[in-house]
This record gives sequence, C-alpha cells and structure tokens, in this order.
Amino acid sequence: MQVILANPRGFCAGVDRAIHVVEQALERFGTPVYVRHEIVHNKYVVADLKQRGVIFVDELCQVPDGAVVIFSAHGVAKAVYAEAASRELNVIDATCPLVSKVHHQVDKYCRAGYEIIMIGHPGHVEVLGTIGQVNDENRWRIKVIETVDDVAWLQVNNPEKLAYVTQTTLSVDDTRETINALRARFPRIVAPAKEDICYATQNRQEAIKTLTYQCDVIFVVGSKTSSNSNSLKALAVKRGTPAYLIDGPEDIQRNWLVGRKYIGVTAGASAPEVLIKSVIDRLKSWGATDVREMQWYPENVNFRLPKLPQRPIQLAIVNE
Ligand code: SF4
Repeated sequence: MQVILANPRGFCAGVDRAIHVVEQALERFGTPVYVRHEIVHNKYVVADLKQRGVIFVDELCQVPDGAVVIFSAHGVAKAVYAEAASRELNVIDATCPLVSKVHHQVDKYCRAGYEIIMIGHPGHVEVLGTIGQVNDENRWRIKVIETVDDVAWLQVNNPEKLAYVTQTTLSVDDTRETINALRARFPRIVAPAKEDICYATQNRQEAIKTLTYQCDVIFVVGSKTSSNSNSLKALAVKRGTPAYLIDGPEDIQRNWLVGRKYIGVTAGASAPEVLIKSVIDRLKSWGATDVREMQWYPENVNFRLPKLPQRPIQLAIVNE
C-alpha cells in the first residue's frame, strides 16, 4: 500500500490567521475569550481551543458585557457588528480578508442599485454573513441559489441590473456551470472583477484532481461542517474515485482499504497537519510502506493579523 499526499492541503492563510487571532487574544486577555460561531469548521481545532478557555457561542446575547468576542473566519452580517457596538463589546474580527472582499462587492452592488444572486449553500454561516451586508430594507435585492438547476426558477425584477457573487469555498466546476447558466439566461449579468472562490479552495481542488488519476481511494481530512472539505470529497467521487470525509484516523474503516494499493490523503482548508500525520500513522500501522508527496509550488499567501483592543473593560461583577 502506498500513500500519496496532496499538495497543497490543509490550513489556508485565512484559517491560520483566525486561529492566531484567538491564540493572541488568550495570551493578552486571559480566559474566557468568546468566539461567535466555530472559529473555523474543524472539530479538533474547536475542541482544542475550548480546552484552552475559549467559549463558543451562537449569538452575541450569550456574551457578557465587557467581554472579548471574536468573529469567526466566515464573517458576520452588518447587524452583528451593530449589535456588538451597541453593547460596547471588545470585538476582534477574524473574518478572512477574502470573505470581506465578497462583502465589499455586495455592498458596492447594492449601493449601485443592482439585484444580486449569491451562489452558495443556503444557511451556511458564510452565506448568512454575506447576505447580511444588505440591510433589511434592501434584502429583496439578494437571492441565494445553490445549483445550476436553481437558475431556471429565478425571478428577478430587472435582468439589466443584475450581478452575482459566490461563496468562497464552492466546487469550482459546479460553480462554473451555474455561472454559465446565469449568463445564458441573463446575458447582462455583472461578474465580480476577481473570482470569489478563494485561491486555497481552487488549489486544493486542483490537487485532488491529480490524486484521482493516481489513487484507488482518497481520504479527505475535514469536518462535515466544512464546505471546502465537502467540495473536495464530492469532486473526487464525481471523477469516479471512492473518497471519504474523515475527522481523523478513528473514522477510517479498515475494509475501505481492501484491494486498494494507492491511497490518497488530502485535507480541507480548516484541518490541521497534526490530523494528517495521525492518518498517515494509522495507514502505516496497517501496512502502508511508502509515503510520498505531490510536487506543487508554494502558496505563499499570508494575511496581516487584525488589531487587538488594547485592554478589555472590566467584566461586570454581579453580586447577588
Ligand atoms: Fe479564506 Fe479561503 Fe481560507 Fe475561507 S478557505 S478562510 S476564504 S482563504
């Protein structure tokens, strides 16, 4: 049995930045630090931070006055910033700059009077944050579609003043198909100046395509909540290679390896390298003799960390 490791795989610059932000906040302010939503969609990362004193919440009403709260890499709606400001919470915004770029596009299109089609997974936290860049009064201007089939039922007010954006972590091929259908139905639809699907998503999808030529089975390390990890698995399966999305080695069933010689391993953008190592160790313990890594050029993308507040105001102490 031989293991072929995808390259690139695992952490992207946005995830790396978001985790660093939480670590710096812990170091500077001590515990507890609150994070609105999972900082990145990975079970291991979230469990590790919980153990270090991070409290994950779904909504700001769960954060006490005066506390430090971090917004996750997926971004938040404008109303969430407004709520945090009205509560004078100490906000640190770990939104990935590539998600913020999409937010600015939506804002710009909306101000210019466009209707906006967002291609993405309805209900996904990134999508909620992006459509939340439009205020309630203008909410009719933005519609979410998920697949190429959705294009047929779309109702718009003015096909002459239409734009689209996409979630950053989608399947490149499926999204291209949806965009082509949009262009066919609405020839004057305006596209973002630069593609919204991020470099990390694109590169990991290219890498897994190469793996599908070389492997009998592929393991994608990533959590079920991770959109880009799901896209990787779906892409491999679509190309005819059996693939499994796993949180770690404990999820691998040994019978998945029966009759397989070349085992591909990759990881979504929110899965840490330590999990990939443990998957390799498990495969070695089951007889893998050779581990080699695909050749690729380095990604070399880094994002500057956001400014941290100087010092949070004292948490209110309530005497019963
Ligand atoms: Fe940013 Fe892309 Fe990473 Fe999401 S997957 S955090 S958009 S770099």
